Amino acid sequence: MNTSIPVISTGRPTEHLRTVARIVPAQSVSDGAGVRLLRSLGSRALSELDPFLLFDEFRSDEPSDYMAGFPDHPHRGFETVTYMLAGRMRHTDNKGHSGALEAGGVQWMTAGRGIVHSEMPEQEQGLLWGFQLWTNLPARDKLCEPRYQEFAPGEIPEVQLDGARVRVIAGTVAGVEGAVQGIATAPLYLEVQLQAGATCRLPVPAGHQAFCYVFEGEAEVGEDRVSRGQLAVLSDGDSVYLRAGDTAARVLLVAARPLNEPVVRYGPFVMNTEQEIQDAFRDFRAGRF
Ligand code: FE
Repeated sequence: MNTSIPVISTGRPTEHLRTVARIVPAQSVSDGAGVRLLRSLGSRALSELDPFLLFDEFRSDEPSDYMAGFPDHPHRGFETVTYMLAGRMRHTDNKGHSGALEAGGVQWMTAGRGIVHSEMPEQEQGLLWGFQLWTNLPARDKLCEPRYQEFAPGEIPEVQLDGARVRVIAGTVAGVEGAVQGIATAPLYLEVQLQAGATCRLPVPAGHQAFCYVFEGEAEVGEDRVSRGQLAVLSDGDSVYLRAGDTAARVLLVAARPLNEPVVRYGPFVMNTEQEIQDAFRDFRAGRF
């Protein structure tokens, strides 16, 4: 290739497609009181993807896989994002907050300085299917007041873009702003539904960390084929091409601004220093959450 041709700015925004940097298959793990999960981020294969700390899919129609749920447990220093596809999950915390998350709904919880909560399936049979993402808070917000953003299925905006139907949970697509707003890392969280063979190009802010997770069918991400249960870490760029295979595909596209800050994590506490982790244990034991 002749590399001596100078790049001439046309004054138009540059278009730089993201490609797949790495594919991480989800591993079967057990967490909470014995809930079977598919974990792709937060495992030995991929421990962290700044600012993302963990990504789980739970999907089972076998009650013994999920009934035990996640009884009371603490969080400090980050955010948990729960997006449901099927079934119902009951959430209750020590601040008096309670709510049921239903299929198509999302809860963006900013744990901040600390909450103790339970996440329990509110069903004794049938399919329970959804995702939980952990995303880090910047150092300055780690001890903020806990807060929730919760949206029922009908409150999440949807956009038709090329051959895709896009549910805009957070971020902006084609001028449509997502339901979740005011998050420090300016996240993009989209569910992209593609008909068989359909394609679409989605903007992803340059410099932001991004990944795709295919949870139904199979999709081409850039030039790589990604199967159900695989997380594709994306290279930098300002957009990504998605294309469904011979059947319909559903993909989560998630991105956010990296924090570039030290991360010290211990179970449900994610801070910047060892001392802050010890403080978290001390505060939790003293009932200060
Ligand atoms: Fe939790």
